[in-house]
Amino acid sequence: MSDCLFCRIVAGEIPAEPVYQDEDVLAFRDINPQAPLHVLVVPRRHIATLNDLTPDDAGVVGTMHLAAARIAAEHGLAEAGYRTVFNCNEQAGQTVFHLHLHVLGGRALGWPPG
Ligand code: IMP
Repeated sequence: MSDCLFCRIVAGEIPAEPVYQDEDVLAFRDINPQAPLHVLVVPRRHIATLNDLTPDDAGVVGTMHLAAARIAAEHGLAEAGYRTVFNCNEQAGQTVFHLHLHVLGGRALGWPPG
C-alpha cells in the first residue's frame, strides 16, 4: 500500500532506524519515543489493525512477539521489565493503520495507561 507510512518504511522509501529484521517483520525506533527504549515491530505485509488478523496471521503475530522479547533482551531489559502494546482503533489511540507492536522500556511505566 503506497499510501501507508509503515509500508513505505518497510519498502525503504522512508528512512527508519532498524533494530531487528527478518523475512516477516521489521523493527525500528519510534520517531517520538515515550521511553528510553521505544521500538515498533511491524509485519512486512500490510495488516491495518488487530481486527484484520486472520488465523493465517498467527505465525507473524508470534514472530512479532519473539522479536519484541529479543529486542528487549538485547537492550538489557529482560530482567528489569518492559511493555508491549498494540493500540487498536481510535479510542486506544491508534494513529498509524499498519499493525505495530510497541516495545517500551528503560524506565518505570505507569499502570493503568491513560
Ligand atoms: P499508534 O499511536 O499506536 O498508532 O503508534 C504509532 C506510532 O508511530 C507513534 O508512536 C509514532 O510516534 C510513530 N511514528 C509515526 N511516524 C513514524 C515514523 O516515520 N517513524 C517511526 N515512528 C513513527
